[in-house]
Amino acid sequence: MDILVVLEGANGAIHRISKEALAAAQLLSKDLEQKISILAFGQNAEQLANEATGFNAEEVVLINDEKLNSYSADGYAEAIMQIVEKEAPQYVLTGYSYLIRDFLPKVSARLQKPLITDVISYKNEGGKILFTKQVLHGKLTVDIEPKVTDSVMVAFQSAAYSADNLISGSANIRNVEIELNADMLKTSSEEPFQEETGGVDLTSAEKIISIGRGIGKEENMPLVKELAEVLKAEIGASRPIVDAGWLPSSHQVGSSGQSVTPNLYLALGISGAIQHVVGMKGSKNIVAINRDADAPIFEIADYGVIGDIVEIIPKLTEVIKSQ
Ligand SMILES: Cc1cc2nc3c(=O)[nH]c(=O)nc-3n(C[C@H](O)[C@H](O)[C@H](O)COP(=O)(O)OP(=O)(O)OC[C@H]3O[C@@H](n4cnc5c(N)ncnc54)[C@H](O)[C@@H]3O)c2cc1C
Repeated sequence: MDILVVLEGANGAIHRISKEALAAAQLLSKDLEQKISILAFGQNAEQLANEATGFNAEEVVLINDEKLNSYSADGYAEAIMQIVEKEAPQYVLTGYSYLIRDFLPKVSARLQKPLITDVISYKNEGGKILFTKQVLHGKLTVDIEPKVTDSVMVAFQSAAYSADNLISGSANIRNVEIELNADMLKTSSEEPFQEETGGVDLTSAEKIISIGRGIGKEENMPLVKELAEVLKAEIGASRPIVDAGWLPSSHQVGSSGQSVTPNLYLALGISGAIQHVVGMKGSKNIVAINRDADAPIFEIADYGVIGDIVEIIPKLTEVIKSQ
């Protein structure tokens, strides 16, 4: 086996972050002339496998084992370990989600194979593949060269590659059995729940208005809420706004918040610190308003307005209302 992409599900469909890993796999497979196998397992495995057949890949490997219907780190790690040991892919690619963080390090440790996490891109230097990631809170970027020739596990940061670039195809499903005994599973997870009442899931929002320290004071926050209402957008925030208690933590975007990829990301009074940018740089259209023309947010903005948000937001709300 050449490249194995491990899928994760979200509400019965393939998770966006897995599609992004598949987009990376399709580029890598073209570069190295290697074949892609897509692995569907866990809850709704069959549904995920059927969806995966629509992408350009050699095959979809399906593990349909009811013991994997509810998540357990032991069960998921065991399933991946058995496939990787049996099929010895050169690369195992995934998105770097919370789920993957929970069980893939077990696979890496047990198989004594490298796991490179939070990868933002790969480079092909004359056939030598290097994986790039940021270190020291994004202050430095490093290229990592695997020193083994098989089972190199690579987990891509959210939005590292775009699922919009996925090439469709028609892959066949191959059923694979694994040996999973009940005593291998040391824990089991209940249904997921939202801990915080009123929490938002920004990851599926089409439009996000994100507010930063430039808003100045809590009394100005209703201006943002009003704009969000007329624009039918969710509200995101930089960390200082959450730290100040002006919005709950579920609204935070960035390395210690949510990673988002909306169609529209309106950054209001946000400077563009790397910890914020890693969480929103995959947005399709980034519009920034900032009174400092040299603010780093303008480097990644598609459209930029230099001005005072406290003046501009109410005017913008009025204009949209009157449409
Ligand atoms: C370990 C770690 C994790 C972190 N995780 C995150 C994270 O997940 N998310 C996150 O956002 N940050 C995170 N941070 C913090 C991050 O480093 C920045 O401090 C933060 O993003 C800055 O937020 P800001 O842009 O709102 O504020 P500032 O950097 O203070 O920028 C405010 C901006 O508003 C502009 N401005 C001021 N007044 C106005 C006005 N009236 N009109 C228009 N513009 C105005 C200013 O020119 C400035 O550019 C993290 C930091 C660390 C160390």
